[in-house]
Amino acid sequence: MTHSARVHPPEDLLWDYHRGRLSPGMRLTVRTHTDLCPQCRSELRLFDAIGGALLEDVEGVAMSDNALDLALARIERPEEPESSATVTHPGFLDGFDLPESLKAADIPGRYWVAPGVWMAPVRFDEDSRGTKTYLMFVKKGMVMPEHTHRGREITLMLKGTFNDQNGSYGRGDFVLCDETIQHSPAVSADEDCLCLVAQEGLILPKTWLGKLLQPFARI
Ligand SMILES: [Zn+2]
Repeated sequence: MTHSARVHPPEDLLWDYHRGRLSPGMRLTVRTHTDLCPQCRSELRLFDAIGGALLEDVEGVAMSDNALDLALARIERPEEPESSATVTHPGFLDGFDLPESLKAADIPGRYWVAPGVWMAPVRFDEDSRGTKTYLMFVKKGMVMPEHTHRGREITLMLKGTFNDQNGSYGRGDFVLCDETIQHSPAVSADEDCLCLVAQEGLILPKTWLGKLLQPFARI
């Protein structure tokens, strides 16, 4: 746990978190980041203390995929009818060093979306407000095709690193993407990658099935 996050939520997002304005999925990404980031914990304490802060647009940085529409469609269509307050952590999460906020999250199962890539939806008791939230695992050495984004999307790094045209990201980093970001992230060759993703306002394109057929390519 000596990693220190280098990329943080923009201040306006942190402020919305403080005010309870975020969807549950966005809230979970911020909370999980603060589990790993003393700097942002301090900032939240400052919000508590002064009850306000200057809001400035802070440029987000990049990551994420948009080629996982089939799995996203499955998130849209819950397969497990029961919803309880009991936290479910199936065996596939064994061995990952999950921050406290994720240990408490309801993550009932995973879907393989390509060889070496799985997604595990996070369920919430309250309405998701249009945000899809999931863990995503990507095997080391994989590269995602170049893509852009269809809305605000957060990738919180939990394990491993990835690189894109904008930089390199590791555990704790909070990577915000939107329509202005176009990139092709590459997972480092020596460590698998696990991240928490929250996507707002996602609209499934008609071509999602076709996209599924070419989502990933090996180096
Ligand atoms: Zn931070």
